[in-house]
Amino acid sequence: MTVPLRILLVGSGGREHALAWKLAQSPLVGHIWVAPGNGGTARGVNKVENVSIDSADFSSLVNFAVEKSVDLVVPGPEQPLVDGIETQFRKVGIPCFGPSESAARMEGSKTFSKDFMKRHNIPTAEYENFTSYEEAKAYVASVNHHVVIKASGLAAGKGVLIPTSKDEAYAALKEILEDRAFGDAGDEVVVEEFLEGDELSILAFSDGYTVIDLPPAQDHKRIFDGDNGPNTGGMGTYAPAPVATPAIIDEIRRTVLKPTIDGMRKDGYPFVGLLFTGIMLTASGPKVLEYNVRFGDPETQSVLPLLSKDTDLAEIFLACVEHRLDSITIKTTNQFGVTVVGSAEGYPGKYSKNDEITIDPLESDDTFIFHAGTSRTSEGKLVSSGGRVIAASAVADTLEEAVKKAYVGMSKIHLKNMHYRKDIAYRAFRDTKPKEENILTY
Ligand code: AMP
Repeated sequence: MTVPLRILLVGSGGREHALAWKLAQSPLVGHIWVAPGNGGTARGVNKVENVSIDSADFSSLVNFAVEKSVDLVVPGPEQPLVDGIETQFRKVGIPCFGPSESAARMEGSKTFSKDFMKRHNIPTAEYENFTSYEEAKAYVASVNHHVVIKASGLAAGKGVLIPTSKDEAYAALKEILEDRAFGDAGDEVVVEEFLEGDELSILAFSDGYTVIDLPPAQDHKRIFDGDNGPNTGGMGTYAPAPVATPAIIDEIRRTVLKPTIDGMRKDGYPFVGLLFTGIMLTASGPKVLEYNVRFGDPETQSVLPLLSKDTDLAEIFLACVEHRLDSITIKTTNQFGVTVVGSAEGYPGKYSKNDEITIDPLESDDTFIFHAGTSRTSEGKLVSSGGRVIAASAVADTLEEAVKKAYVGMSKIHLKNMHYRKDIAYRAFRDTKPKEENILTY
């Protein structure tokens, strides 16, 4: 591969802005095109520029990459990976930091990933797969535990339903299997046991053999404080989550990450890229909720700033595609990263667009603004164009300080009626509250 590298980054979210930001710091990287990118990657500063090609338009992406002699492609979102973008670039000899279409089934099909976990003894919730409404209903009627119902295919984060009664469960099954609320994504459903505990997002690099995880993150899926209101794409994250002790991380590596990477290779679809494992820390140990085959959004915005300045993301990507990740040291700072996401009025329902955004100068080197649903008008004005609009991330030596700085970052962003949660990382503070027996009483 020739240095300086020419990279094509596919996607338009906060995750892609954060990836572009970290990749641009690499001395190996000459230029990064983001397709289609957002208002934060649009300015052509610091090696980054947008190219107006949709992430689903594989033939235009391939033509562009060939014409510009791109050395490495980095797909951000799941859809192009599940649709086989890696094969398209392999055919023209351009390496892709991301899994093959068959490996991407770990995210593209929940029935596939559940069967994989069962086959390889990876801890997960008990489950059954169904295509028939009547059979699924009979199963729900027969079990004694609460259930979670999941459309098997990609459903833009909306395909998981958590009923509170058997009747609600039957209604959810009918909605997916008979009324086809999620289209083809609901041809099959997984009915699984409801698990209780704290959730973790584990992001790990793999070259198909070696697996290296990053600081464990915790997301905040609900729109309102205290985990209330409807689910969203993610309203904020922090890492490392103190609930993930070294012993727990060791157990996750042993019982989940290594068997997953080894199992995929043995089954004939080795995983190259970033594997995101959603874990529930249950009373009987960590269990896998789901696999994603790409960086999380907004986990990436909290975790990448924790890589030490001399840890080169481009070098890691190259090591993965060249199957030599064991030759790489990934260093993280001993700090905490926090991301607070600002959303447009109305999100996750119908939301407002084309509202002007202004950002005051940041006074801290450790605070970053990552754009998501933003774009620039022809006059260069920044406007909102998506539901999750923009985020502030910060790193600091303590979690308290990182939270404070991220909120100072948010206060610099001005967008009419912007909403953001005021309680990001609250669970960590709950966890570190002194135990009752340690509180002095008089
Ligand atoms: P998934 O896309 O499978 O991770 O599911 C989305 C969200 O639904 C997760 O982040 C959890 O909050 C919740 N969830 C999924 N599966 C379960 C389960 N078995 N028990 C409890 N909550 C779950």
